[in-house]
Amino acid sequence: MVVVIVLAVVISVVLALLLWGASVVFHVEEDPRLQDIIDLLPNQNCGLCGNPGCKGMAEAILREDAKLSQCKPGDQAMREDIRDYLAEHPNEAGEYVKVKM
Ligand code: SF4
Repeated sequence: MVVVIVLAVVISVVLALLLWGASVVFHVEEDPRLQDIIDLLPNQNCGLCGNPGCKGMAEAILREDAKLSQCKPGDQAMREDIRDYLAEHPNEAGEYVKVKM
């Protein structure tokens, strides 16, 4: 019985270390502007913009693959807020997103 418990603990520790190592090796750095854009969107996650939720739309905006008007629940003030935010926040290389209204 003790052997089984010790074996289970050892296997658990080994698997936990493997998961931790994978999370370190495969860590993807996220654009720090992404969460700010998500926060500026309506966050209804309705998908009317053709993206899988507001996070998908924010990613598309940062890739310059979406017009802000695709967000149907969003109003003009939202579009202007996102445009103004991106005009003040370039990426790490100093490049600005070309916002499509
Ligand atoms: S249409 Fe707007 S509110 Fe709906 S998921 Fe897209 S970004 Fe979010």
